[in-house]
Amino acid sequence: MEGYWYYIGAIAIMVWSFIVQISLKAKAAKGSEIASNKTANEVVEEMLSRHGIYGITIDHKPGELSDCYSPKEGKIYLSDTTYNKRTLTAVAVAAHECGHAVQDHENMGIYRLRQFLAPAAGVCSNLSWYIVLAGILFAYASERGGELGFTICNIGIILYMVTFLFFLVMLPVERNASRRAYKDMKDSNWVAEEDRSYAYKILRAAGDTYAISLASSALTLFRLILMRNSTRRN
Ligand SMILES: [Zn+2]
Repeated sequence: MEGYWYYIGAIAIMVWSFIVQISLKAKAAKGSEIASNKTANEVVEEMLSRHGIYGITIDHKPGELSDCYSPKEGKIYLSDTTYNKRTLTAVAVAAHECGHAVQDHENMGIYRLRQFLAPAAGVCSNLSWYIVLAGILFAYASERGGELGFTICNIGIILYMVTFLFFLVMLPVERNASRRAYKDMKDSNWVAEEDRSYAYKILRAAGDTYAISLASSALTLFRLILMRNSTRRN
């Protein structure tokens, strides 16, 4: 019965993800045809200095929507569709990345937590599967291995919770960076007033992809729990 819910969840997330991807692509493409008053690079310089942030450089990163802020390198990477581009999408994306730099500069608690969890999240995600599978093998291999197998599975599940926590923290961090971008956009002349709400729509759609990551992480956690519970059925 629970397995049934897992498949319903998986299909729902797949459909949702498909809709969000299409909507984001369409919005980003339309926004790329709307001219802004400033280039993305000018926006980065202006937004950073407005918040008293100096020493961060801008670099070009090949690819589409691969923009990111690297606190380690002190760089904001802008992708092909953003770097030096004078479009609504480019400005929205660049301002969002600056939003992360501001979070970092202000030492925002939840941003710090995300940075702290980031390296562990990937490792825990992979490792948890091996541990849960090992637990299942233990449970099936010997008659008395059931309890030990169950405990091993629990260790794997606890590890995966670190990954889940990372996605849980990521969503508000991303939404907050977009809100900061939008606020600064409203206080400036980077884009025409009538285009601002559309810039926010692009940022909203980009943020939805993190909601999907969180949902699929919750589903993975559910699946690992189902796998653990299967060791008790025999
Ligand atoms: Zn972001």
